[in-house]
Amino acid sequence: MFDLTGRVALVTGGNGGIGLGIARGLAEAGAAVAVAARNEEKSRAAVESLKSAGHRAIAFACDVNDPAAVAATVDGAAGELGGLDILVNNAGANRRAPEPQDLSLDDWRLVVDTNLTSLHIVSAAAFPHLKANGGGKVINIGSMMSVFATGYAPAYAASKGGVVQYTKSLAIGWAPYNIQANCILPGWVRTDMTEAFLEMFPERYQAIADRTPAGRWAEPAELAGTAVYLASAASNFVTGASIPVDGGYLVQ
Ligand code: NAP
Repeated sequence: MFDLTGRVALVTGGNGGIGLGIARGLAEAGAAVAVAARNEEKSRAAVESLKSAGHRAIAFACDVNDPAAVAATVDGAAGELGGLDILVNNAGANRRAPEPQDLSLDDWRLVVDTNLTSLHIVSAAAFPHLKANGGGKVINIGSMMSVFATGYAPAYAASKGGVVQYTKSLAIGWAPYNIQANCILPGWVRTDMTEAFLEMFPERYQAIADRTPAGRWAEPAELAGTAVYLASAASNFVTGASIPVDGGYLVQ
């Protein structure tokens, strides 16, 4: 039921952090995986680590904000790996400012483009491949900030709230094509993104752990199980949902 043998997955931002954790999980479940990100060296290393574990993997240099690069990546992945069944929209960015009004328009645009607008660019490019396969799975990565907000990252909270609503639109619009679209809402995970946050607010590490019922932060690999579930036949009647993987952060 959770077997992904013969399936092809594209993971944006799959060269590190949560994206690589998910790419590894999908590959371990049997999928061939394409990772798409800008840093080619990081992508090469990620693909090497997948291949050395015996998986089929390929990297594409791609800025998710560039529609031409996205089209080349999606078509290239489907061409090289034999179609496309699973899309993981994981690439993301954050910019912070002391107060909402301090966030520059450039930073606002970068965050909203990367975290939200890119989902439409990549999903629209993937659609013909998913449809041609007779169905597929879209997994969008939201955040605790899809539910909560913060004064220091207004574009991040706005974009991640939008991810949940965009996912619902895909779930409705693509149901006739047997495509299920769902969100994962990660709790606090140690990655490059949160290292930058901890440099600004070091005291928040322990405060977040203390506020989380599980009493700790997550490892990127801990997002993989839910991604495999949402990529597999086990979730065929689940669509438009947002699943927290947060050690219980949202329940208190
Ligand atoms: P990360 O380690 O900084 O990874 C971000 C990934 O996105 C990298 O692979 C990066 O690769 C890629 N990326 C960024 N901008 C891109 C662009 N314009 N085009 C293509 N790829 C781009 O951060 P992470 O924590 O793993 O974050 C992954 C996702 O999880 C994000 O959507 C983030 O918002 C979400 N999330 C993270 C946490 C957490 O606690 N860490 C919690 C909730 C949600 P390149 O730089 O090579 O392009």
